[in-house]
Amino acid sequence: MDISVVIPLYNEEESIPELYNWIKRVMNDNNFTYEVIFVNDGSTDRSWEIIEGLAKDDHHVHGIKFRRNYGKSPALYCGFEKAQGDVVITMDADLQDSPDEIPELYRMIVEDGNDLVSGYKQNRSQGDPLSKTIPTKLFNATARKVSGIKNLHDFNCGLKAYRSDVVKNIEVYGEMHRYMPYLAKNAGFDKIAEKPVHHQARKFGKSKFMGWNRFVNGYLDLITLWFLSSFGRKPMHVFGFLGSLMFFIGFIAAAVIGAQKLWAVSHGIPARLVTDMPYFYISLTMMIIGTQLFLAGFVADLVSRSSQGRNEYQIEKTI
Ligand code: UDP
Ligand code: MG
Repeated sequence: MDISVVIPLYNEEESIPELYNWIKRVMNDNNFTYEVIFVNDGSTDRSWEIIEGLAKDDHHVHGIKFRRNYGKSPALYCGFEKAQGDVVITMDADLQDSPDEIPELYRMIVEDGNDLVSGYKQNRSQGDPLSKTIPTKLFNATARKVSGIKNLHDFNCGLKAYRSDVVKNIEVYGEMHRYMPYLAKNAGFDKIAEKPVHHQARKFGKSKFMGWNRFVNGYLDLITLWFLSSFGRKPMHVFGFLGSLMFFIGFIAAAVIGAQKLWAVSHGIPARLVTDMPYFYISLTMMIIGTQLFLAGFVADLVSRSSQGRNEYQIEKTI
């Protein structure tokens, strides 16, 4: 099979029929063999009935129904597990992404040899308010910096194409769908490209991601990913180093303070009480925090040693 289209959706009943017909038209025009997997993320409207209706008349349509709303990442994860196409394309259900992009995305994977092609909403729909576009710019700049994927302008675009290997070997969870390219890169898939895509205003319903907390969460997720990719398998290297460094500085400082005092006492020079000096407390605190950090690294190492994934590596080939 050429293409699997995975569509996570939450309360998008109005859009589904139009979206599906459009995808079908594009697929038929290009003679692709395909399947469309709708992942109903606990919709409370009639989305599931509509998907069932489509699947009854058309064997290209598949559906997964969550019992409750889990979020976009879990929906993608389950869609990826089921996908059988050589190329997997993800797309939002709200008709903001155009299925007309599919043939070119497919070509960029199959012919140009990319692992992942991410859509770039270059001229974002006019419907999006400034309060959404400005933080998005900031967010993408940070993600570019941290992930080291310098050629991506738009990490969070719902329209992306993957080589099948990629989706079968990465695990998206929580709200990590914002960082699919970073997840792919961490798994060793580093041929990542971008394609400017058309982006329309939402026709029906409203956005499921509103408010500022999504940026706070987005940044926290980015820190997690960065930490996991740099120290996930060796936490002692960061905590142990920082802890030892702090303890060492604190210890030396305390020793200097003590030595000064002893010297003064032995020479009969009047000196302040050690406990009257702020330096004493600072060095004491540093030694305590240093020990704590060291212990944190130790515990984290124990955890990673006994975790199930400790010996999971990305093996591309064995002969
Ligand atoms: N979505 C989902 N589960 C959720 C929230 C959203 O499956 O908990 C789907 C939603 O139905 C849509 C896609 O994720 O197909 C993107 O959501 P939306 O269009 O609201 O995001 P925006 O375009 O505003 O960033
Ligand atoms: Mg949308």
